[in-house]
Amino acid sequence: MKQIALCLLLAGTSVVQAQIRNTEVYELPHLDKSNERNVINIPGFGNYETLKCDFHIHTVFSDGLVWPDMRVQEAWQEGLDAIAITDHIEYRPRKEVLKGDRNESYKIAKKAADAKGFIVIQGTEITRSKPLGHLNALFIQDAEAMDVEDPLKAIDEAKRQGAFILWNHPGWPDDKSTLYPVHEQLLKADKIDGIEVFNYAEYYPAALDWCDRYGKAYMANTDAHGLVASVYGWGDKLMRPLTLVFASERSERGIRDALSAGRTVAYFDGKLAGSPELLEKLLKACLSVRPIGDNRLEVTNRSDLSFEMTGGGALYRFPARKVVLIDRPKTTAFTVENCLTGNKKLTLSFPE
Ligand SMILES: [Zn+2]
Ligand SMILES: [Zn+2]
Repeated sequence: MKQIALCLLLAGTSVVQAQIRNTEVYELPHLDKSNERNVINIPGFGNYETLKCDFHIHTVFSDGLVWPDMRVQEAWQEGLDAIAITDHIEYRPRKEVLKGDRNESYKIAKKAADAKGFIVIQGTEITRSKPLGHLNALFIQDAEAMDVEDPLKAIDEAKRQGAFILWNHPGWPDDKSTLYPVHEQLLKADKIDGIEVFNYAEYYPAALDWCDRYGKAYMANTDAHGLVASVYGWGDKLMRPLTLVFASERSERGIRDALSAGRTVAYFDGKLAGSPELLEKLLKACLSVRPIGDNRLEVTNRSDLSFEMTGGGALYRFPARKVVLIDRPKTTAFTVENCLTGNKKLTLSFPE
């Protein structure tokens, strides 16, 4: 009798695992994860939510290897809130095969994004040798209008369309991060609004200093050409560099307003880079503190970000999604070892 019951139970299990499509095909829907998405837990603060964004991505319409709607799929599954499609204006090695114009990759990605409630921003990469280098124009309407010989005229056209201009990978390709006079002019004229401090797997310490000095948005992006997971690994979250955007709403408008106000923090390889005000607000939104008796503190980190702090001669680690019990520190003056502001580590008073 027991054996019969077990057989019935196993039969029931297999029915849950496989669904009959017809008498000749059984479907195994649990093997298809394409409608599942990670939740990346990074809290907001004040009136802002934290959006996880990647503002530098290529497709087959320039020198990328991926079709635009797969860009949306991989970012959506990974748990991002928004991406920008930024194919090169000038470099389109497959234009004889792919007939669409410079706006086509965005249009394809936008259609795929709308079907998922995901945000895709129209952008393009203005591509020149150094000294100018590469700049992304984000929130544009027509990339074709930027196909002009003088890159400064392309920037002006992008600005006329309402663009946010991002200075890409300042240390590439010659392994020198040089602030040329043209950059200084563009920074001062607000024709560069943000700088990539991290691009692909590169990190530019000098760019942190420029963000601080000129009050520009700190950005971290993939500059993906192949599949993102083929570079950063499969299946986990917080693998790729991300620009964290503190937005009053989860929309393209919300992101545009936040970028205009410089409300970003760059995330890369466990480090965070941004202004001291934003970094402190983000850290204090992630960590909550409860006194345990007179001598101990319970610190809860509900976020997917980890923090490492030093103070009073001690090192404190607050890993993602962990509760840590510590002896009450002898000081409230802390340095956050993995938070950078300009070229300095963030210092703050903790707990408050
Ligand atoms: Zn580039
Ligand atoms: Zn690029």
